[in-house]
Amino acid sequence: MLQIIRRTIQIFVLILVFLLPFLGLLEIVEAYYRGHYVYMTKGDAWQGAFKFTDRFFKIFIDDPIKVISEIKGTLFWSLTVFGFTISDPLAFLGYLFSSKAFYLDFLISSLFLVGITLVFGRVYCSWVCPMNLIFELNNMFRKLLMKLNIKPLNVGFNRLHKYMILIIGCIISFILGVHVLYFLYPPLILNREVLHFFYFRSFGIGLSVLLVLLFIEISFSQRAWCRYFCPGGALWSLFGIKRLVKVEWDKQLCDDCGKCNLACEFGLNPMRGEMGMECDNCGRCIAKCKPDALKYGIYLPFRGK
Ligand code: SF4
Ligand code: SF4
Repeated sequence: MLQIIRRTIQIFVLILVFLLPFLGLLEIVEAYYRGHYVYMTKGDAWQGAFKFTDRFFKIFIDDPIKVISEIKGTLFWSLTVFGFTISDPLAFLGYLFSSKAFYLDFLISSLFLVGITLVFGRVYCSWVCPMNLIFELNNMFRKLLMKLNIKPLNVGFNRLHKYMILIIGCIISFILGVHVLYFLYPPLILNREVLHFFYFRSFGIGLSVLLVLLFIEISFSQRAWCRYFCPGGALWSLFGIKRLVKVEWDKQLCDDCGKCNLACEFGLNPMRGEMGMECDNCGRCIAKCKPDALKYGIYLPFRGK
């Protein structure tokens, strides 16, 4: 059941990735038809389509633009809904180093996700990140190939790489004054590519980067980016190091079947309770555990775990 809820949230977020630029365009088109905006040229093929959708929205809402203008954001850096802004802490960190300026509002808007991660760990990765859904689907394809007797490589790297990338990214951002993490964060790359497509009807270099990553994960190293290289994954893992909600393993109930370890795409060892800060609380291992030796537990600081 939990996996169904997780998938539903992931799919909803992926839809949002496409919906937000669409709503942004709709707002522009509406402004254009009201004569406030002249960005779009007459005869543009999109105009007819958006004129139609604008009318479609108006069947349900009197003033769609009023509602749409309350939902703003580049989804994976920030999202503002009816005045409440949530920002990605990685964005705040990168801007802090690259601009050498401190924005209190920016910090406050990133605290929501920090708070969630302090309690639930790296759940942004497992429950929200739209690239995770794509990487998971990609991994299903990899497993299918294995069933067909095609044996891809599975090269491992040091998990510390992603922490190094995070630190080096911050240092380079500081020196160059450029937010370099911006180019290394898959959910943001995806978001940028979708925006690029909506506004310019073409794709940028980011799509090639994502396709290369998917190919590497199929053929060379399972779930390599999230496990070893993602600076965002590193930051979430660091915030989640003392998380309150963790997967707990009951040695008495465990029958050593090993299905949980097979289910864990991050290559952790839930069969021996060795999940550590890398665990994103996805619950795949729990779903596979028939004797219920794995479940979520709450670890308050005084419990000492
Ligand atoms: S590690 Fe990075 S790409 Fe992977 S799920 Fe987390 S944020 Fe997304
Ligand atoms: S140990 Fe379990 S909850 Fe943690 S990442 Fe692996 S499968 Fe997901």
